[in-house]
Amino acid sequence: MLEEGEASFNKQYRNFLSELKRNKRTTTVTKEEFKELISSKCEYCGAEPNIEWKGNNQNGTFKRNRLKKYGTNITKYTIIVLCSECIKDKEIVYIIKERKLLSEYEKL
Ligand SMILES: [Zn+2]
Repeated sequence: MLEEGEASFNKQYRNFLSELKRNKRTTTVTKEEFKELISSKCEYCGAEPNIEWKGNNQNGTFKRNRLKKYGTNITKYTIIVLCSECIKDKEIVYIIKERKLLSEYEKL
C-alpha cells in the first residue's frame, strides 16, 4: 500500500514529465526535486501550497503549489513556485523570474 498521497504525487510527476515531452522539452528534475518544488511556499507571497489534488481512485490527497517553467531543458533552477493567485499576475511572474535568474548568476 502506498503512503497517503503518494499515488497522487506519482501521478503528478508523471503528468509533469509527459507535459514536457509533449512540448519537446527535457528535464533533469528528479522525483524528489519535483516533490520539494510543488510543496514549497509561493516565491512571491509565501503562501503555503493550497491546491488540493486528488487523482481518480487514488489513495489520499495532497496539497501543492503551481510551477512556472522556463527554457527547453528544465532544471530545478528554471522552475518558479507560485500560488494559484500569483501565477495569474504577469507582473509578479516577471519579477520573480528576474529575481531568480539574478540569484543564479550570482552563484556562478
Ligand atoms: Zn503567491
